[in-house]
Amino acid sequence: MPCPLCGSESWKPVLTVPVTLATVEWQFRYVRCRDCGLVRLNPRPKQDFLLELYEQLEVVNEHGDGELFGRAYLTDQVSRREFVERHAGRGRLLDIGSGDGQFLHELKMSGWDAEAVEPVTSQAEFQRNSLGLEVHTGTVDEIDFGGRRFDIITLWSVLEHVPDPRATLARVSELLAPGGRAVVGVPNLRSVEAKIFGARWNGLGAPFHLFMFEPASMRKMAESAGLRVCNTIYASTASTMLQSLKSIIKSNDSPAADSAPALKMEIDWSPRAKSAKNVIFDRLVVPAYRLIDALHLGTGTIFILEK
Ligand SMILES: [Zn+2]
Repeated sequence: MPCPLCGSESWKPVLTVPVTLATVEWQFRYVRCRDCGLVRLNPRPKQDFLLELYEQLEVVNEHGDGELFGRAYLTDQVSRREFVERHAGRGRLLDIGSGDGQFLHELKMSGWDAEAVEPVTSQAEFQRNSLGLEVHTGTVDEIDFGGRRFDIITLWSVLEHVPDPRATLARVSELLAPGGRAVVGVPNLRSVEAKIFGARWNGLGAPFHLFMFEPASMRKMAESAGLRVCNTIYASTASTMLQSLKSIIKSNDSPAADSAPALKMEIDWSPRAKSAKNVIFDRLVVPAYRLIDALHLGTGTIFILEK
């Protein structure tokens, strides 16, 4: 398959990721386009196969929550909201791929005018029925917004999942009001965690993560969609820190458990391990990650795009 950004057929291998899915071991390979530098999964699994896997992962999601993960995750939602307010201001917001709706819920609690789109039916229904949020079921291409425009559009851990990210960004551009901003959070392939964990790094998430974006490839992609990268921020979130800690502590886990995104929540900490973890987390991990982010080596990259 040619590069979806520049059309080139020329690439070089980056990394091969072994993943066990339903007792079958798969090898997923990331390659880098020799012409534009975009990193993509190649060959890519069929979209039907992926959708089936997403549905299976939801089940794990529901049973895997823990008090500890919950704490870190909610902290992330507040920091996400504050981040958006700092870098994109306030206004009418659309969250693309709202997942379990916790970010949208945080926005609503803070008085935002916000709505979302979510393609996984069960997730969208949960958000509407249990959280009372305004969520459209489907992809952003499928939903008719009746000519409405948004001041801010957020895509948290979404663009690496979509089959045609350039088309998604073009749709984002179409839906943004003039001068509006998009906040695009993706895994950082150049992060220190990616280097340490290699094929076991959570951010790879094969086969769900189809693309890895870096500043140069994102700039090209944004421009081809009518957007401009106006800021790039490196950010490690509490939940990625926690996952990394878990990867270290439970290092005898199979690589598949760490590379499948929704499997990461099955944490079983004893009370003693919990309190030791809290001390390590607050005194050591948080300051270390602040430094790592400042060096552009954080787990996530957040691109601010302007129309
Ligand atoms: Zn290319």
